[in-house]
Amino acid sequence: MKYLGIELQKPKIAVFDFTSCEGCQLQLVNKEDTLADFLNAVEVVNFREASSYRGDDYDIAFIEGSISRNDEVKRLTKIREKAKVLVALGSCACFGGVNKLKNEFDVKTINREIYGKDPKETLWVKSVGEIVKVDLEIPGCPISKTEVETIVRHLIWGTPFTFPVYPVCVECKQRFTTCLMEKGHLCLGPITRGGCNAPCPAGGLGCWGCRGPATDPNYESFFAICKERGFSRAEIDERMGFFSAFGEVHGK
Ligand code: SF4
Ligand code: SF4
Repeated sequence: MKYLGIELQKPKIAVFDFTSCEGCQLQLVNKEDTLADFLNAVEVVNFREASSYRGDDYDIAFIEGSISRNDEVKRLTKIREKAKVLVALGSCACFGGVNKLKNEFDVKTINREIYGKDPKETLWVKSVGEIVKVDLEIPGCPISKTEVETIVRHLIWGTPFTFPVYPVCVECKQRFTTCLMEKGHLCLGPITRGGCNAPCPAGGLGCWGCRGPATDPNYESFFAICKERGFSRAEIDERMGFFSAFGEVHGK
């Protein structure tokens, strides 16, 4: 494969799933209009949803899901030893995601309620970065395949990729979506990293912050606007805690 007359190398990629719904992996094989180009740009050596081949000589390991069992800790550690580049793929891998809501409760009680007399081995949920070194985090629930394709192009060219620093509101304006806050809905768009093209507000749903905080978010102004519009602290906390993406920042 050549670009501007320069021979490019196809990176060997592997995609591994941990505690997740596998929606981010599905995104990679979902966008059929670019699927052939994507698969032509990389060499897939391990990707359960795309191929029955199982190799372990990968350059880039994409990790989907959070870590919630001891066997996952061991498996992830081995993958880290082999991969030249390890990418956390999606909000579960980057932040712990919705799985981390479990950490609000007693693990034994939850285990009993879900599995009854057949409890399973389970840990407090952690993000991938809480277990091993992560080279790149691609947030989103699910990830944007367009963004991943752009990132893979940068990895092939060996040039750094920069995520948008602006919040979701910018893309909302670019789409001419009427602000949902104006319609009385709570929306985390002002403090959430753009790059998804604001599909939730366009569909009538306030942003839930799946991409995590924008660069230098103005929490103080956001909380003030929410208060002015009558949203309670509990509502804001619930939403900011949903993907575990905002750490210890909570509504005021
Ligand atoms: S709907 Fe949400 S993301 Fe869109 S402009 Fe309003 S606050 Fe920002
Ligand atoms: S609008 Fe918000 S919740 Fe929806 S995809 Fe974008 S960051 Fe995620």
